[in-house]
Amino acid sequence: MKKPQIAADTRPWRDPDAVPFVRIRNVTKTFGDVYAVDDVSLDIYKGELFCLLGGSGSGKSTLLRMLAGFETITKGTIEIDGQDMAQVPSYQRPVNMMFQSYALFPHMTVEANIAYGLKREGLPKGEIAERVAELLKLVRLESFGRRKPHQLSGGQRQRVALARSLARRPKLLLLDEPLGALDKKLREDTQYELVKIQEQLGVTFIVVTHDQEEAMTLSTRIGVMNDGKIAQIGEPQEIYEFPNSRFVAGFVGSVNIFEGVVTEDEDDHIRIDASAEAGCDIYVSHGVDCAPEQILWYAIRPEKMVLSRERPEGDANIVHGLVQDVAYLGDMSVFRILLDSGKRIHVSQTNVSRYDPEGISWDEKVYISWEADAGAVLTS
Ligand code: ADP
Ligand code: MG
Repeated sequence: MKKPQIAADTRPWRDPDAVPFVRIRNVTKTFGDVYAVDDVSLDIYKGELFCLLGGSGSGKSTLLRMLAGFETITKGTIEIDGQDMAQVPSYQRPVNMMFQSYALFPHMTVEANIAYGLKREGLPKGEIAERVAELLKLVRLESFGRRKPHQLSGGQRQRVALARSLARRPKLLLLDEPLGALDKKLREDTQYELVKIQEQLGVTFIVVTHDQEEAMTLSTRIGVMNDGKIAQIGEPQEIYEFPNSRFVAGFVGSVNIFEGVVTEDEDDHIRIDASAEAGCDIYVSHGVDCAPEQILWYAIRPEKMVLSRERPEGDANIVHGLVQDVAYLGDMSVFRILLDSGKRIHVSQTNVSRYDPEGISWDEKVYISWEADAGAVLTS
């Protein structure tokens, strides 16, 4: 097996001289008058585990199918490993695709399923056996080679499908909702498994998912798709902490959004009058590209807000409201609060002690405050 081609601390997408492995340039796909994919440009680097994240119908599968060559491109170009794919049929691309329904052959053993593509390719028997053994080991199914798919659990079937799609050693593996059929716990275990295998092989993965937690866990970078377009591309932390729009902020994680008007616009800070929605000014400790009087939105995550019974110091970033509900989730509690302004927000707190009789509870009036660098200012 090959060595990983991407070290944990190297990020080729941050290097302007790095050459992308997959280049998607202004790609559009229409079905009649539906723009399934709408002018998407995207570079993906060797060894990445790139997630396409978006709601149902946002164009993720269509983009993947164009990469695989199962779908023609209406407009634009796709290059893989320096080669334009326009004239390359799917079976000649250095690409394999793993579908959501794993489509294993039910009458064949696990070994035969994995060997299938290699046999068709006409590889010598000894070499096929060697490679199947290697793949079974990789997905930790060494002792399951003789079983039929129906004798396996969902997670095991998923791993067979993965082994099969890796058998011909594609340079690029496309996975469409690979964990969609697994239940939550198994899904989480399998996510780590998938990352480990991907790192061991150094194969470039593009994974389609509608599950934002999954995208956060798996990926080197995420491309958020909305309505056929890429809404934002970034590392998971960038997408979460610095969303570029209300859509992305709301799609990835939970968020509170306050609308307001810019009243002070300086190089080192801005002040937003958010009295209508928050009942206070919002002070932001960095400059923002905006105009005075401009309407914009302040997005802040529930875990970045602090609850208190006493009013904290300061004249901004303090709202007041009534705790309507507390959801205890074990590791944390989520407070649903009705602000005096009439807006509802979520605030979460980590539960560090087992039981806190002094803790803030429902029906209490509370102040909610946050730091001047805790949220993101959005202009769209
Ligand atoms: P996703 O995978 O994000 O759920 P898809 O790529 O499957 O989205 O679909 C994007 C849009 O293109 C949807 O509106 C879908 O109905 C449409 N679409 C996809 N495939 C076809 C097709 N073969 N014919 C007509 N419309 C299609
Ligand atoms: Mg899909």
